[in-house]
Amino acid sequence: MDKIHYTRCPLCGKDKLETFLTTEDFLKTHESFDIVKCAECSFVFTQDVPPEEKAGSYYKSENYISHSDTRRGFINRLYHTARKYMLRRKWKLVSHLTAGRKLLDIGCGTGYFPAFMQKKGYEVTGVEVSDAAREYGIQKFGLRIVPPEQFLEDPREGEYDVVTLWHVLEHIYEPGAYLDGIFRLLKNDGVLVMALPNHHALDARIYKRYWAGYDVPRHLWHFSPRILGHLAGQYYFRVTEMYHMPFDPFFNALLSEKYRKNPLWFVFGTGIGFLAFLRGFFRVENASSVIYILRKNTGEAGKDIIL
Ligand SMILES: [Zn+2]
Repeated sequence: MDKIHYTRCPLCGKDKLETFLTTEDFLKTHESFDIVKCAECSFVFTQDVPPEEKAGSYYKSENYISHSDTRRGFINRLYHTARKYMLRRKWKLVSHLTAGRKLLDIGCGTGYFPAFMQKKGYEVTGVEVSDAAREYGIQKFGLRIVPPEQFLEDPREGEYDVVTLWHVLEHIYEPGAYLDGIFRLLKNDGVLVMALPNHHALDARIYKRYWAGYDVPRHLWHFSPRILGHLAGQYYFRVTEMYHMPFDPFFNALLSEKYRKNPLWFVFGTGIGFLAFLRGFFRVENASSVIYILRKNTGEAGKDIIL
């Protein structure tokens, strides 16, 4: 199968790429993938990923829980409990950031977050690439959910008060096109909220190739706070706040223990998850997942990016 092989860094354009680690698709195919790091700017990304039109097959797994409603197994149950709690946390965060009520949720999956926000009085539009997930959200919650093309070609300006991407940007083949679209559609005083895994987390350093946050080849880019800030600047955004996500260290650690086939996965996963939680609680730069709050940059910013 043809794959996308990078000879230059998609962020800075330099050709000094080094192997960062070799891991595999633990979720589905067990295919091996290299993750490379740019020696110039430290951007870390997955090498030889499938082309976008073939990426869909890597998602068609009963285990891909963010698109499913299955409650089988402990990790799935934890995921659903955490999701309920996090819906409230996300709503509180968004309502604290802006009084505006027009929300665009990109990569909304089956629509639980936009549905919750709609109930809280927000005027919501979702964007979702999966036909099945989009259909589910429309049928079950009566939401407005559009495919990505419709969002990318939307010519309106300053339409939304807030745009959210919960664990989405790392899956997107053209993050630059999305950031351009978001910039256009966001009001000048609007807020962009993005949650991303952080490979500078304690759990990432412990589990290395088994770390669930790499999730290759579904995760194309592996961000850190510094790199995300750099990328944001190229698209006229600036990071104004960062928060940790309390459940992600546990979720990552338990899943990573399963990937490394530890018979004591529950004990180790809970213990390391707790340590990683504490680390992220006290130092958000090392949290397992970081919620970035971005606002439009009114100062000078370059635009020499390739992504
Ligand atoms: Zn680079």
